[in-house]
Amino acid sequence: MSESTCLFCRILSGEIPSTKVYEDRLAYAFNDIDPQAPNHILIIPKEHIDSLNDVSQGDESLLGHLLRLAPKVANQIGFAESGFRTVINTGGDGGQSVEHLHLHLLGGRSLTWPPG
Ligand code: AMP
Ligand code: ZN
Repeated sequence: MSESTCLFCRILSGEIPSTKVYEDRLAYAFNDIDPQAPNHILIIPKEHIDSLNDVSQGDESLLGHLLRLAPKVANQIGFAESGFRTVINTGGDGGQSVEHLHLHLLGGRSLTWPPG
C-alpha cells in the first residue's frame, strides 16, 4: 500500500477530514466513520505500517505507545472506568479493510463476546 493512496495517511495529511480525539508526536486518534459503539475511536501510528504482520522489533516501543493510548483516550472521553475493548484486525480473515495499522477503541455500551 502506497502512502499517497492510503486512506489513513490521507487523513493524517488533512486531505480527508476526520474528527480528532487525540494527537501526539507518534500517534493520531479520531472517530470511526461507522461507529459500532457509542464511542468508537481509531488510534493509528503517524508512520505508515500496513498491518500487525509488518511490524518489526524496532516498532515495539511504538506498539506499546499505541496500546497505552487506549486507556488514556478512554479516560479523556470518560469511559475508561466502565470498560472498553481494543481490537486490531489483521489481514483478510481478521477483517482488516484499511491497510494502515489501527487499533479500534470501543466503549460506551456492554460489548458481547465472541466476535462474529
Ligand atoms: P478495519 O475494518 O479493522 O480495517 O477498520 C477500518 C475502519 O475504518 C472501519 O471501522 C471503518 O468504519 C473506518 N473508516 C473507514 N473510512 C473512514 C474515514 N474516512 N474516517 C473514519 N473512519 C473510517
Ligand atoms: Zn497509511
